[in-house]
Amino acid sequence: MSTLEIRDLHVSVETKEGPKPILRGVDLTLESGKTHAIMGPNGSGKSTLAYSLAGHPKYQITQGTVTLDGEDLLEMSVDERARAGLFLAMQYPVEVPGVSVSNFLRTAKTAIDGDAPALRHWVKDVKVAMENLRMDKAFAERSVNEGFSGGEKKRHEILQMELLKPKFAVLDETDSGLDVDALRVVSEGVNRVKENTDAGFLLITHYTRILRYITPDFVHVFVDGRIAEEGGPELADRLEAEGYDRYLTGAASA
Ligand code: ADP
Ligand code: MG
Ligand code: MG
Repeated sequence: MSTLEIRDLHVSVETKEGPKPILRGVDLTLESGKTHAIMGPNGSGKSTLAYSLAGHPKYQITQGTVTLDGEDLLEMSVDERARAGLFLAMQYPVEVPGVSVSNFLRTAKTAIDGDAPALRHWVKDVKVAMENLRMDKAFAERSVNEGFSGGEKKRHEILQMELLKPKFAVLDETDSGLDVDALRVVSEGVNRVKENTDAGFLLITHYTRILRYITPDFVHVFVDGRIAEEGGPELADRLEAEGYDRYLTGAASA
């Protein structure tokens, strides 16, 4: 049983005009086996939260703490965060020309576990995971994210997640730009990891549609750099019907 605890997190992003405050006191506790959805309008700071957890250098933590099982996550390097069990699928994944998917996955697995995976098991695990995601074998020999379609990028992220077996997975807008088939493949992947491991999930999304395939235990509405409301899955249904206007009007008049 693991806990990822975010307390009073304030974050500024580096801009040409200097640091700009984006997150303004985020409190959130994730636990093994639970799925949290963060939903909010564009520009509310959802990706900033993901980048802050990832340790992106552009995002300056100005206040607050993040701990994983009591360890200070913010003190860890990006690699240490991954080794501690944090997995992040970003909205805009980077290309790694010249590095094949297959090598990339094996290197990542080795870095996280501290040992290279036994080849026979590993080859089988990759094969099964790729078949589950309905990925062509040839995909393993392509360069990471180079020329990948939106759907291929997302499948590749889910493939990593299935093989790396994180304690916590943060998926930022995994559903944006996906056609319905790809959305289903990604959702099934998340649900498989949910079923087969004790991972906790933070699903960040603007749209409610991925939540038709993945049922969250908790929904948090993110507005203007902080959580404005929390509830169960029924809150996602209400957002689908009503949108974010209610919160935005509130924020503007506050
Ligand atoms: P979301 O993911 O909810 O759409 P973001 O976290 O991407 O929101 O952005 C939150 C706010 O921070 C926006 O107003 C955005 O313009 C601003 N922002 C994010 N990154 C940068 C950056 N690198 N430079 C300037 N502004 C940024
Ligand atoms: Mg956005
Ligand atoms: Mg975003």
